[in-house]
Amino acid sequence: MVTLAKISIRGRVQGVGFRPYVYKSAVTCGLKGYVANTPTGVDIEVEGDNAEGFVEQLKKDTPPLCSIDETHIEVLPLLKGYRDFTIKKSLGNSPPFTQISPDISICGDCLRELLDPNDRRYLYPFINCTNCGPRYSIIKSVPYDRENTTMSGFQMCEDCRGEYGNPENRRFHAEPIACERCGPALTLVLPGRKYAAATETPIGQVIELLRQGGIAAIKGIGGFHLVCDALNNDTVKRLRERKKRQSKPFAMMAATTDSIKEFARVSDKEEALLTSPRRPIVLLRKKESAVSPLVSGHVSQHGFMLPSTPLHYLLFYHPSGLAAFKALVVTSGNRTGEPIITENDEALDKLSGVADAFLLNDRDIHMGCDDSVVRITEDGLPIFIRRSRGYVAEALRLDVDGPEALAYGGDLKNTFTLLKGHYAIPSPYHGDMENLGTVEIFNRNLNNISAIFGITPAIVACDAHPGYAAGAMAIERNAHETIFIQHHHAHALSVMAEHGLSGDAVAVILDGTGYGADGNTWGGEFLVTNPCGFTRAGHFKYMPMPGGDKAAGEPRRMAVAYIADAFGDRARHVLNTLGFIERHGEEFIDTILRIIPIRELSPLGSSAGRLFDAVSSITASADINTYEGQAPMELESIVLPWVGESYPYGILDGAIVDFSATIKAIVSDVIDGVDKGRTAAMFHNTVVAAVSEMTMRICDTTGLKDVLLSGGTFQNAYLLDNTISRLKTLGLNVYTNEKVPCNDGGISLGQAYGARRLVCAQRS
Ligand code: ZN
Ligand code: ZN
Ligand code: FE
Repeated sequence: MVTLAKISIRGRVQGVGFRPYVYKSAVTCGLKGYVANTPTGVDIEVEGDNAEGFVEQLKKDTPPLCSIDETHIEVLPLLKGYRDFTIKKSLGNSPPFTQISPDISICGDCLRELLDPNDRRYLYPFINCTNCGPRYSIIKSVPYDRENTTMSGFQMCEDCRGEYGNPENRRFHAEPIACERCGPALTLVLPGRKYAAATETPIGQVIELLRQGGIAAIKGIGGFHLVCDALNNDTVKRLRERKKRQSKPFAMMAATTDSIKEFARVSDKEEALLTSPRRPIVLLRKKESAVSPLVSGHVSQHGFMLPSTPLHYLLFYHPSGLAAFKALVVTSGNRTGEPIITENDEALDKLSGVADAFLLNDRDIHMGCDDSVVRITEDGLPIFIRRSRGYVAEALRLDVDGPEALAYGGDLKNTFTLLKGHYAIPSPYHGDMENLGTVEIFNRNLNNISAIFGITPAIVACDAHPGYAAGAMAIERNAHETIFIQHHHAHALSVMAEHGLSGDAVAVILDGTGYGADGNTWGGEFLVTNPCGFTRAGHFKYMPMPGGDKAAGEPRRMAVAYIADAFGDRARHVLNTLGFIERHGEEFIDTILRIIPIRELSPLGSSAGRLFDAVSSITASADINTYEGQAPMELESIVLPWVGESYPYGILDGAIVDFSATIKAIVSDVIDGVDKGRTAAMFHNTVVAAVSEMTMRICDTTGLKDVLLSGGTFQNAYLLDNTISRLKTLGLNVYTNEKVPCNDGGISLGQAYGARRLVCAQRS
């Protein structure tokens, strides 16, 4: 029977080749009607035999980047007598909510064409199609049509227009479609021009410059990268000096997974992540290799990504430089602490002392984003270090609907999160909010993303820290309701939001620092929590942090504090035996010992991060952090995984985890010259044991079974895997962050979710 069905589809269905797919399916089924983008997704009308069965047909073989959340079908009584099936221009411009696709790496078809001398886009660095290319970074508004992207200024040539309008073509309605004749082009700027050019194409010249040890600033999808040969020690050294980045590891890029395997071990899951169209940086276990030791220093991992743009591939496969590089350093183009640079002029200005050449192009980046960074634990769990390019602004599905909300996140590794309906939209990674440039980018992204998703939040959430810049911004917004969420509660809430948990649970938050409800610095916390509140059921023993904030940058300060706590009057003697006085001077050590009892100079903290700092300094002489988390990362790096033993620890009053016995045992092992890797492993095992015992006690008293793990210290894969398996052995249900970072990059999701649940609870 001939019927007319009206179908509305929600989900990620724009900019992913969905309309052409619908067109082809409809034509194949002999149906007439139309398909159109709408502010909420895609609308379809089909007329013909079994029109209502069309949806099932449609769900079978959707394009790779599309994901359908909801379908709504209505069978209309009257036929409209469509004569053919058409793809309509987008319908409507009411306040939109639709998902937009993240930026997607070049697909296999485009890569083949890129390297095919007979293809009309041979070596064209901006080749793309409906299955690949930039999306998030070029979208100015929705619906996702060419005129709403930064491609609007490029007039399609006749050939491109033909492909764009041909439903049989892979580039049918590929909004960023382009070719050499009509699309964006590269410009090379060589300020000094001290490198001989063997060829005249910009890419050829950049390859030659890189080969001769130069550093290039290259505009990518989400912003500029600084690029150089990772095997050239002098060049990497120069990059470090010029970028003033002492030892924080640089990410690298190699042409294929096989070439990455020369430098690092790659598990199946890691390979799947590397090759996924999102193309994050994946942290992989280093192998002995020809990569400059200056690339990632003392940590046991290399961060690698595969090329994500046609331009990246050309650096490896351009005929003029074929196989010139085994691995390139590819690091964010910014000044240390500042956000990634997205504009040509800004790059020429700010990176002038760093790069020898600038490979620019005229496709504007409307919204910048850094590369995402992910690691996979031995047990196969993903840990997001940074969720940005390839992931933003993908919406996460929540279990509850409710009022629109905006959460400002923390001051470090800042992100914000917007809530609308059943969706949470975490922003890209912004960095440190103490930097004015970061605040500017935050505001820009907030304006753009809330406009695209049509969100005007009445509820605003932020950290309870009175000194946070992000908190001040939230208050300044003067929203209908401003809700303050304690830092570690927000970490716990981020896990609840991800897993759709709404009941009571025990949260174990091992973290650097966060403002505590008692005014002290918290960070080794056991909370009994639900979406609307928490009680503190236990914590790591308070320890003075000599010099306050300075203690976070100098693990040696925490080492002295922990030793003073464990050894009392004998502390100075012990520090001498350990070589601390020789390493840091009598004056420094005596000053630290003197200020430890003075609260104004040495505020109290229960931070897990600071405990790892102290042990790293005592065990491995990681005394100063040149970047955040350096000492704990170096400590995890030396763990001997086959060591199963642990050190003693105490639990005071059933609530305070005391590691003074652990510190004593570690000191004596260090003095006895026990293998550092063994000590590091035993320390990790001790934390696992102490945390598990404390958790089990709380679960016993409260009768709870659900345990949430979060906080930046759980970026430590050994700690995460072992804590999870121990807690599972004890019969508990363990949940952790798998979609947003467990570090402060994830707290905005928790804040937003908590604020919404709180407001809903108060209203009902
Ligand atoms: Zn493609
Ligand atoms: Zn063209
Ligand atoms: Fe935190």
